[in-house]
Amino acid sequence: MPESTVLPSAAIDPAAIPRGLFIGGVWREATGGKTIPVSDPSTEESLGKIADATVEDGLAAVAAASEAAADWAKTAPRKRADILMKAFHLMLAKADGLAELISRENGKALADAKGEVNYAAEFFRWYAEEAVRMIGDISMAPGGANRIVVQYQPVGVSVLITPWNFPAAMATRKIGPALAAGCTCILKPATETPLTALAMAEILAEAGVPKGVVNVVTTSKPGPVIGAMLRDRRVRKLSFTGSTEVGRRLLAEASQSVVNCSMELGGNAPFVVFEDADIDAAVDGAMIAKMRNGGEACTAANRFYVHEAVYREFAAKLAARMGAMRVDDGRLPTTACGPLVNRASLEKVIGFVDDAVKRGANVLTGGKALDRRGFFYPPTVLTDVAKDSALLHDEIFGPVAALVAFKTEDEAVAMANDTEYGLVSYVYTKDLARGLRVAERLEAGMIALNRGLVSDPAAPFGGVKQSGLGREGAHHGLLEFAEAKYIATNW
Ligand code: NAP
Repeated sequence: MPESTVLPSAAIDPAAIPRGLFIGGVWREATGGKTIPVSDPSTEESLGKIADATVEDGLAAVAAASEAAADWAKTAPRKRADILMKAFHLMLAKADGLAELISRENGKALADAKGEVNYAAEFFRWYAEEAVRMIGDISMAPGGANRIVVQYQPVGVSVLITPWNFPAAMATRKIGPALAAGCTCILKPATETPLTALAMAEILAEAGVPKGVVNVVTTSKPGPVIGAMLRDRRVRKLSFTGSTEVGRRLLAEASQSVVNCSMELGGNAPFVVFEDADIDAAVDGAMIAKMRNGGEACTAANRFYVHEAVYREFAAKLAARMGAMRVDDGRLPTTACGPLVNRASLEKVIGFVDDAVKRGANVLTGGKALDRRGFFYPPTVLTDVAKDSALLHDEIFGPVAALVAFKTEDEAVAMANDTEYGLVSYVYTKDLARGLRVAERLEAGMIALNRGLVSDPAAPFGGVKQSGLGREGAHHGLLEFAEAKYIATNW
């Protein structure tokens, strides 16, 4: 049996996850011994404390990644591939434990957490396969005097910053291609959901990732700690997933040392339903596009533009499905929608709905925070949402669907494009020619045509406009961690 298919039998024990910083293959406390509390958004109960890294700790992680860089870049691609494939199998073997952990620290329903673990593991498998495909090219210069040789080399020490909404998948979507390309890295997970990242560090070490190749640093002071890393000349890459606001700030900081940047930022996805759509299929798609992760996804459908001829039917069917979802502690097997991640997120969603209602929206289902412990908001459908309502312009990041009617294709496209974001757009129509025509006109990096889901490790994920720079997944994601070296030569 090849090494990559050897499976361990033990499941993950959430209580046994180390809580320190993982630097140079060693678990250690933060300098000064400070810690950060972590809690469960379903119960508001403590999940323990994690280390709170200082600038000094952050730079120690850069040093460890830098020391390991040359050997890892030299490691045979096949060997790197085998390690990633082993990590893939280990993740699947520990899937139940990881899913429970994700659900506990993030709040998402266990079914969503299980889906995330599988999706996350697939990035290790995909990039195990890609590690042996850093293929350059060779051509004759047009003038005929020399050859143009292009070789891809690892970009170097990479800082990876991830958000709380997909604590496993956003990490593997960066670590997978970084390692495949031959880069060493420092992962800075979100403070809301660090435990999954710490569990991933253990999995990677068990899979055979050498000391210093993957380091994990948790901190309550991301600004100063990341800022110091970006000013350190050993750092050559920043791969960030998070809000557009923080992304803008990091781009400005990275510009000081011209650090190579990939940015996966916020979204404000339109979901367009034409009059000829299969309405039941559109509602099925809407449930995934809106409610995967309880609406806390960058790809979440934010604004529903529905043709006036099918508007009432779509709204009634969507409200029936949303209203029937069971809202409860994320870990209960019967839960369809868990809590929001924290109180600030809950208050933001409450504010969005109140604002829309004040401007004339009708509440078909939901519309009021639940009176219980934890940060629960019920699945909510709003119709007749006024165009100046805040939730049509900002990411809702919660279980709220805002519906607006349209009359013409041009009007739908204009409303869909009327945003600074451009991550994903959803379109439902039975007319494929119209679907493709509209897909071309929509300003988004990804289009879901008659589908409620785009995410796939084998596809280039990313946005246009202020939703980001670069792509993750596919071969594109590998090249984000590589530099093209051009060698002009005669022979
Ligand atoms: P966030 O507030 O921007 O935080 C993202 C990460 O950046 C966290 O690890 C955070 O650390 C860190 N951070 C915050 N301030 C920083 C600073 N000054 N310097 C360096 N790092 C800093 O986003 P979030 O609330 O975690 O996640 C939700 C956002 O992510 C949404 O906008 C969503 O659309 C976006 N997202 C995009 C994608 C995509 O692929 N395009 C995927 C998932 C999520 P702390 O946790 O310590 O604050």
